[in-house]
Amino acid sequence: MSVNAVKVLQRLHRAGFQAYLVGGGVRDMLLGEEPKDFDIATNATPEQIKELFRNCRLIGRRFRLAHILFGREVIEVATLRGHHQETDTEKLAKQNDSGMLLRDNVYGTIDEDAERRDFTVNALYYNVADYSIIAYGGGLDDLDDRILRMIGDPKTRYQEDPVRMLRAVRFATKLDMTMSPETEQPIREMAPLLASIPAPRLFEEYQKLFLSGKALANYKMLNHYGLFEQLFPACAELLKDNAQGKESELYQLVCKNTDLRLANDQRVTPAFIIAAFLWYPIERRAQDVMVEGGLSYYDAILIAMNDICDQQCKSIAIPKRFTSMARDVWHLQMRLPRRTGARAFKLLTHPKFRAGYDLLLIRGEIEGGEAEELAQWWTTFQHAGETVQRDMVRKLGGPKKRRRAPKKSKPAQE
Ligand code: ATP
Ligand code: MG
Repeated sequence: MSVNAVKVLQRLHRAGFQAYLVGGGVRDMLLGEEPKDFDIATNATPEQIKELFRNCRLIGRRFRLAHILFGREVIEVATLRGHHQETDTEKLAKQNDSGMLLRDNVYGTIDEDAERRDFTVNALYYNVADYSIIAYGGGLDDLDDRILRMIGDPKTRYQEDPVRMLRAVRFATKLDMTMSPETEQPIREMAPLLASIPAPRLFEEYQKLFLSGKALANYKMLNHYGLFEQLFPACAELLKDNAQGKESELYQLVCKNTDLRLANDQRVTPAFIIAAFLWYPIERRAQDVMVEGGLSYYDAILIAMNDICDQQCKSIAIPKRFTSMARDVWHLQMRLPRRTGARAFKLLTHPKFRAGYDLLLIRGEIEGGEAEELAQWWTTFQHAGETVQRDMVRKLGGPKKRRRAPKKSKPAQE
């Protein structure tokens, strides 16, 4: 266990406060896995915590929390939460953030704190005073049986905070657990409630779902419960027409590759998955735009890029640096076929070449034909020496031009 988390627990305890390690930290250690982070709950107020730790920063408005900083490690310390005047707070918070301030900083007992947590396996408290574990609602048994069980009435809890449906999926796949029937049953019907969640929060959840090594499992389960369409409406629209088509293949391949990269400690970016997921919706929209507006393919794609990107950002607020990378990847899908003259060499130096090429590879694998040939060409070109590269480019464009030129000019002269 994190030495720093132990230090924090002990200092709180010595100062006369209750102090518990709680949430994922306890759960993962009991499962024999390495926790991602260590969260601590205490009956000390944020101000009292701040007095105890010099390396402490108070953060958050809706939920006031203390962050204790140890170099790069951050230990999060929260004051035990109590009940407030009641269930609509999450909804109110959205419309009226400042109204939420006071209400969500109501402090309480450990029992009240536990009732506000989501799943029984997330409501395990390790008590530093006597080294015991306090479990709420059968959390230890559920952990043994690998059952993910919502605390309280699942419908009410999903209504309070629809993000809990996404968390249910995430923990089920991450911990290899089965949802209890009552936990699972309402999800499909209640999935549309996610529409009321602020888009920035869904971006956070999107990252946890797709960039933690379980993207493929999560994708499948999200789809199963009708949650995927809440996150990626334009993508889901294409699945409606053809659930087993190239779109479905692409989403799964992108997820699989992301999981593999993470397993191999390779870098992943939230922008790539988004760029790849949205490519077919963009192509589809471009077809419509071409027909409606009589535009060229190129212009139609540009318009479709904006349309689809704007639409996507309504459900998941993608930060600008990532949409701009996605745009580069889409632009590259149009530029990669044009390789003559100095173009191919120039494209190799494009800062997002690698990502654009990666999407082309995936498309090639799924579409075969032209996309596959093009992807192969680029694979060879990248790894070839300069002489071979020049030759490859010459073979593409050079002869065609030379042959065509005289043909055209001759009749004109005669
Ligand atoms: P991990 O960090 O490994 O993803 P975790 O269980 O620690 O898993 P966090 O998101 O870090 O998850 O949240 C810490 C704890 O806070 C959870 O274990 C849970 O008890 C509580 N919690 C977090 N989000 C919610 C929520 N939306 N509703 C109720 N309780 C929540
Ligand atoms: Mg955590």
